[in-house]
Amino acid sequence: MPDIIHLLPDSVANQIAAGEVIQRPASVIKELVENAVDAGADDIVVIIKDAGKTLIQVTDNGKGMSPTDARMSFERHATSKINVADDLLRLKTKGFRGEALASIAAIAHVELKTKPENESIGTHLIIEGSEVKKQEPTACASGTSFFVKNLFFNVPVRRNFLKSDAVETSHIVEEFQRIALTHADIKFTFLNNGNEVFKLEKSNLRQRIVNMFGKSLNDKLVPLEEDTDYLKVQGFISKPEFARKTRGEQYFFVNNRYIKSAYLHHALIKAYENLLPAEMYPSYFIYLTLPSQAIDINIHPTKTEIKFEDDKTIYAILRSTVKRSLGMYNIAPTIDFETEPSVEIPPLNPGAVVKPPSITLKPGYNPFGETYKSKDLSQYNNWDQWQKTEKEEPGSRTLDLSTKTGQETTHEEIPNTENQEVLFTGVNTEPEKGPFYQIHKRYIISQIKTGFIILDQNNAHERVLYEKYRKQLAHRKSYSQKLLFPELLKLTPAETDLIQSIIPDLHFLGFEIEAMGKYSFSVNGIPPEIKESDTQNSIEKLLEELKMQGDWKNGIQDFLAKALAKNTAVKSGESMGETEINQLINDLFNCEQPYYSPSGKPTLITFTLEDMAKRFKK
Ligand code: ADP
Ligand code: MG
Repeated sequence: MPDIIHLLPDSVANQIAAGEVIQRPASVIKELVENAVDAGADDIVVIIKDAGKTLIQVTDNGKGMSPTDARMSFERHATSKINVADDLLRLKTKGFRGEALASIAAIAHVELKTKPENESIGTHLIIEGSEVKKQEPTACASGTSFFVKNLFFNVPVRRNFLKSDAVETSHIVEEFQRIALTHADIKFTFLNNGNEVFKLEKSNLRQRIVNMFGKSLNDKLVPLEEDTDYLKVQGFISKPEFARKTRGEQYFFVNNRYIKSAYLHHALIKAYENLLPAEMYPSYFIYLTLPSQAIDINIHPTKTEIKFEDDKTIYAILRSTVKRSLGMYNIAPTIDFETEPSVEIPPLNPGAVVKPPSITLKPGYNPFGETYKSKDLSQYNNWDQWQKTEKEEPGSRTLDLSTKTGQETTHEEIPNTENQEVLFTGVNTEPEKGPFYQIHKRYIISQIKTGFIILDQNNAHERVLYEKYRKQLAHRKSYSQKLLFPELLKLTPAETDLIQSIIPDLHFLGFEIEAMGKYSFSVNGIPPEIKESDTQNSIEKLLEELKMQGDWKNGIQDFLAKALAKNTAVKSGESMGETEINQLINDLFNCEQPYYSPSGKPTLITFTLEDMAKRFKK
């Protein structure tokens, strides 16, 4: 048998490695900016065009590279940062794997201009898909400039998986901020499509945070300071009264490296316990310093998770440090620092009203069992069929089809009714004129010709609002309540990019939003379903949802209509007056798809007389 194993060509090996290291434009930013920091630069400029899909440029005034180093830097496992394995224990640099440049060069068109300070002539190198196209001497400034163009030009799958420009840009901004927050002593400039988004002068940490997130943050920060033998804690946390609806600015850095840690986040939230209203989040910028032997950062090339040798101690120290700071600034009552977090039992609030247990209806419960369930379902599990039947029985349902346009397709997960415990029978489910009963502030019961229906008020209202918003977006008609006093909205740069890309859509949903300054917006009008006092919250919530789920498989308009409907729909637990109930029922039966909420939950369950009779037979 002939030998069949061979070594992969470098270009292929690099492309495979790139899959791990470079996932999106933001990964390129991270690697290039970290290299600039490692090169000792104190002035770094980042330029992106079209969310980095067209251009990513990083220019630094660091130590530069010799012509040979410039060429070598693109080889895999080529690094100047470590020599022997033990060096891994004393890392002072951000990079050490020597993989980033090789990876980037494998999947993009890269140009490099670099010159060490003491040389008079620099090097210009062009490399495309791991192939060196050109290397020549050039006149250039001291330091290094990387230009990365046509990212993923030879990996169409990756390119196609990139999200919208707004989402990719917000990832880039996030990466940029994480690095800029760890190097206040470096000047950073960031340009997006020709606009200067950040100009961060050298400063101390507090000024860096404020320059990045806006002056208004200054009064809200409380400093943290703790120095134990094992661990040093520094940084800032926000006063509880300035907590926000969005998770926005929450940063942990360990040995000056950004990390994600649900565990440490928990320690922090515990320290704020009872100081924050529900669903509000504090901002924090926390810098932990530990001996490098006590952590392992070498888990994954890009992962931001790290392993701690002794995470319980870190948890306890962090929590008590935050508590003490909150206490010192007269924010929290004095706190006993010695309490061990794991044995703490929350005290019973003496004023609390103890609720008796209540029985609630299980919406999916089918009292008729298998016998009934799918009898008529297959016949009607399709909207068109149902509509046809309805038309053949005139008068049974009012539906304004004139508003339906070709483009106004609603994309939603309409579940296969056969698998649902929903008694959707195709019978005329439209209620007769009242009376309607709201029970448990959650369901509405109404008689219909053939029996009765139970409506879930939240699911039903979500459906009504979703279709309303979809129509407004499709017909470019908006209904807005003008605010007497426009509300000022201060956003982070990432949120600013995001909101700017959806202002026209927000307009048709009823939000009148106008840019006021770099990161400030004035809200002049809101959808009529939103309370004026909820203006800020509802916008922040919308942005938060957009950030969390960049994946809008049915388009941004559909996403927005769904998200807003979810946020503004009447919730279970809210009592509804007679007029409201009438309106809801009327609106629901004017919907194109009255039986399911936009996320596919049933809006109503039907019980027929026939089946009731069966149930009462002996
Ligand atoms: P690593 O950062 O892990 O060493 P990279 O592939 O990112 O690996 O970079 C390879 C090498 O190229 C670095 O070790 C460094 O010597 C050199 N290099 C990269 N970027 C710069 C820069 N901006 N200025 C000077 N040298 C650089
Ligand atoms: Mg590097």
